[in-house]
Amino acid sequence: MSLRRSIYKNPAQLRLMVAPGLATAASLVAARAAMVIGATTLDLDAAAEAAIVALGGKPNFKLEEGYHHTVCASVNDDVVHGIPSARRLGAGDIVSIDSGAIIEGWNGDAAFSYVIPDPSRPELVAERQKLSDVTEQSLWHGIARLHTARHLNEVGEAIEDYIESQGTYGILTDYVGHGIGRSMHEAPPVFNYRVRQKGPDVKPGLVVAIEPMVVLGSIDTYTRDDDWTVATSDGKAAAHWEHSIAVHKDGIWVLTAEDGGAAGLAQFGIIPVPIP
Ligand code: MG
Repeated sequence: MSLRRSIYKNPAQLRLMVAPGLATAASLVAARAAMVIGATTLDLDAAAEAAIVALGGKPNFKLEEGYHHTVCASVNDDVVHGIPSARRLGAGDIVSIDSGAIIEGWNGDAAFSYVIPDPSRPELVAERQKLSDVTEQSLWHGIARLHTARHLNEVGEAIEDYIESQGTYGILTDYVGHGIGRSMHEAPPVFNYRVRQKGPDVKPGLVVAIEPMVVLGSIDTYTRDDDWTVATSDGKAAAHWEHSIAVHKDGIWVLTAEDGGAAGLAQFGIIPVPIP
């Protein structure tokens, strides 16, 4: 018997992941509602934390060594891991919020991007909105492929193919998705692009966080002096969308969407099935 924990969860464990998924979803809804011009990224963090606590959870990002906030808030050329601060949101900003909750030892992890309206700069807003939309839709294409995939690498193929069909965008390769369960980040890696290795079998018990990170320019990044924030080297904007998804014997369920992913998957004719 291997001492390594299986990447596949049993049905009881899958059920335990429903509550932290919903708390994570609620935290993103709360952060989105707090996104107004002049709000600070710390305001978004507080709104997200209150939503998680109200549902009996704890922010799992605070369990990461050296990190003290509920969300990562990454603005404009910041891609991921931005630290909430007194920075105020301005018109035209593209803001990515990544959040997670832990309940009874099980984790959720999800992210979205939003463009603050700016009527004075319609072209900038349209470019950033398309970036966010392409990233979000690439996530749904990846989730849809998970529904039929035999191997996990097919998810990355679906994400890459969709993004390439939409224009000239860069898919970050420095950071990828991951398995999720008792730990927020666990095996296997989930690539957002083609890889040679097939990856593990997609079968009941697999739970993954799929999280494409897409940029308008070069995929080169660097880490800012705060030792956390990952920013594009060329200063161009980035978007990040993420969901945690469970594969079970009757289908798939998007744990971090309040509707299980029904709205996002309808275009593929896929109806998500609650975890039995
Ligand atoms: Mg993640």
